[in-house]
Amino acid sequence: MRRAVFLDRDGVVIEEVSYLSSMKHLALFPWTTDAIRALNRGGLPVVVITNQSGIARGFFTEAFVDEVHREITARLAMGGARIDAYYYCPHHPDGRVAEYARSCDCRKPGRGLIDRAARDLNLDPARSFVVGDKWSDIELARAAGARGVLVRTGHGAVEQSRRTGDAAADAIVDNLAAAASWILKSLI
Ligand SMILES: [Mg+2]
Ligand SMILES: [Zn+2]
Repeated sequence: MRRAVFLDRDGVVIEEVSYLSSMKHLALFPWTTDAIRALNRGGLPVVVITNQSGIARGFFTEAFVDEVHREITARLAMGGARIDAYYYCPHHPDGRVAEYARSCDCRKPGRGLIDRAARDLNLDPARSFVVGDKWSDIELARAAGARGVLVRTGHGAVEQSRRTGDAAADAIVDNLAAAASWILKSLI
């Protein structure tokens, strides 16, 4: 079983825009391609795991989310970088689209998405890394036995200023580029 890097999407790989519902608001950070390519070269599978409750809330469809992911993949490919797989949770208990309006085990910090990826791709979560801009991402890392890196992009700076409970990160860094460096260094 392989180690992997699980990346939150919004605020980590792309700019946080609060429920991305139009392709014209999709923006990679300037360092995203280089950071992911470095992880690729380090031999680490890179897997996006993202809560997309906008589907349950009726803001956009699963088809749109798939389209966003194809577009991210295409933009990364131009710089020689690759995301190996995308997993998203479409649910929310307060959603207004009936088929998605429920509690589930895949909404982070639940570990359902990581477990699904681990089965599909033969990954070992306990030897892996989670990078996110919310404490819920770090809680997920804890739950999975992985190491958790909080980035200050997206919601990260605000999250850092209101640290809660025992959601201590293994590292808090400026952005995905610094997270990738931290991860690759920790493998040596
Ligand atoms: Mg996020
Ligand atoms: Zn879910």
